Formats: sequence, C-alpha cells, structure tokens
Amino acid sequence: MLYEETRRAVCETARRMMRDGLVKLTSGNISSRIPGTAHIAITPSGMDYETMTPADITVVDLEGQVIDGARRPSTETPMHRLAYQRRPDVGAVVHTHSIYASAFACLGIDMPVISTELAMVVGGTIRCAPYAKSGTQEMAETAVTALGTEDLVVFLQNHGVLAVGRTLREAYNTAVALEEAAMIYYLARQMGTPIIIPAEERDRMFREFRRSYGQPKGREE
Ligand code: 13P
Ligand code: ZN
Repeated sequence: MLYEETRRAVCETARRMMRDGLVKLTSGNISSRIPGTAHIAITPSGMDYETMTPADITVVDLEGQVIDGARRPSTETPMHRLAYQRRPDVGAVVHTHSIYASAFACLGIDMPVISTELAMVVGGTIRCAPYAKSGTQEMAETAVTALGTEDLVVFLQNHGVLAVGRTLREAYNTAVALEEAAMIYYLARQMGTPIIIPAEERDRMFREFRRSYGQPKGREE
C-alpha cells in the first residue's frame, strides 16, 4: 500500500477521535501531509470509524486529485487542502464536532484563554469562522482565513472545530484541549465571570510548552 505508515497513523487517530468522544457516527475528518511529497492522506467520506482500516484512507494531491485509494475522500477535502496550501507549517489537520466547542461555535463568539492547558497548547484567543455551508470552497476559505498565519484552531460557526498542527499528535491534542477548555469555560460561566489569563503570561507559557514540554527528543517512548 502506498504511504502505509501515514495512512495507518491517520486511521488510528480517526478511530481514537471517535473513542475519545470528539465525534459520533461518521462526523469529522482527519488528514496528514505525506512527508517529502505534495500529497495528503485523508479519511474517507461517510465511513464508520469502528471498521475503518488504513486501506480506507485516501491519498489526494493538493489540487484534490485522487492519487491512491478506492474510497471517495472526505467532503471537507477542500478545507484540508487549503490549510496545507496556505500554511507550510501545517503537517496535519483535524476537524471535529465535539459537543462543548460546537456549542460555542453556535454563538459565533471568540473564546479567550481561560486555562493554563489552553495557553500552553493553543496559545491565543480562539476565533470563530463565519458560517458557510459544509464541504464548500466557501467554507474552506472562511475557515482557513480565520486561522490566519499562525493560529492553531478555530470554531466553525454552527458546525464544529478545525485544528491544525505540525504533526498529527499536535493537531489532535489541540482539538482535545479545546473541547476540555470549552467545557470548563461553560461551567465557569454558570458560576460567575471567568478570569482570563493575561496575554503576556499566556504567550510565555505557549513558547515554553512548545520548546520543552515532555520527554527530550529520542526519549519519547
Ligand atoms: P465526511 O464524512 O465527508 O468527512 O464529512 C463529515 C463532516 O464532518 C462534514 O463536515
Ligand atoms: Zn463537519
């Protein structure tokens, strides 16, 4: 199978996304750049995560042409492609419909950084991309424009979440961190007025986390 390692990683992350409760049924989608090529591996459209295998992951080029795989690629392929085209720093893209984050997306508001976890993983305020119909080039435009040149995650109004990262693990962790923060923000708002972490402290945490959190290189496992 062409690009088996990347297809396996995309499939495993997609199945994990369902197990972790970020999506239900066949919603959401995931992709990864294939290192050293202009191709990406992306989840198929409308297929059950329970039974998805690496062979179901489709390989497309950045123009959307199918390169390998028998399945029709995700309907959100235009949004994934545009994220890779506009952002050379992006190596993976995760789209979820996680409940609390999607509830904020229905309000069309930005979410401030209210937890240290969010400061470390996401960095800045989470913007909301204006509404556009799912799967359209217009939605790709609004979503990727809202991401701008350095944001790692945005709400998609009335829809869900778009997270990007240097790696699949980073993009996935960002989607998880946002859902957890949205849940915390919701609860905190029921009890009072959440305190927002000052921008300077937030930026410092983000820089430090990216530089030195976890195990040193080569000692990750
Ligand atoms: P696909 O099954 O085509 O990836 O669509 C799911 C989705 O979340 C659409 O926004
Ligand atoms: Zn969706």
